[in-house]
Amino acid sequence: MAGEPQADCLFCKIVAGEVPATIVRETETTVAFRDINPQAPTHVLIIPKVHHPDAAALAAAEPQVVADIMREAREVAAGDGVEDTGYRVVFNTGSGAGQTVFHAHLHVLGGRGLQWPPG
Ligand code: C5P
Repeated sequence: MAGEPQADCLFCKIVAGEVPATIVRETETTVAFRDINPQAPTHVLIIPKVHHPDAAALAAAEPQVVADIMREAREVAAGDGVEDTGYRVVFNTGSGAGQTVFHAHLHVLGGRGLQWPPG
């Protein structure tokens, strides 16, 4: 069923505590943890506890959780001291955009100068 944990999903396993992660924040609906392969001094992933394959599916099914994730992005940035210097939030959506884990997740990147457009 939509939103239910998926046995073969890495990020569902992080939510369940079955795969280790460096968790920086947790709310009723979200978990934020440091990316295992950071692309910037601050590189945190914020995921919904519910399983949806990408941000579009999450927004269609549970739009309030998208708002929760965006609120958490600001908290993560503030916690890492990058709120004032600027940070980037990215939902890679689809393999053509670089998505490799098909459980919706927001990248929060900061702590260095970021180029635009991204690669
Ligand atoms: O947007 P995309 O799907 O490519 O992002 C997945 C991210 O999950 C990658 O940045 C990867 O480094 C991260 N990851 C992680 N911990 C894992 C596996 C992947 O932080 N155990």
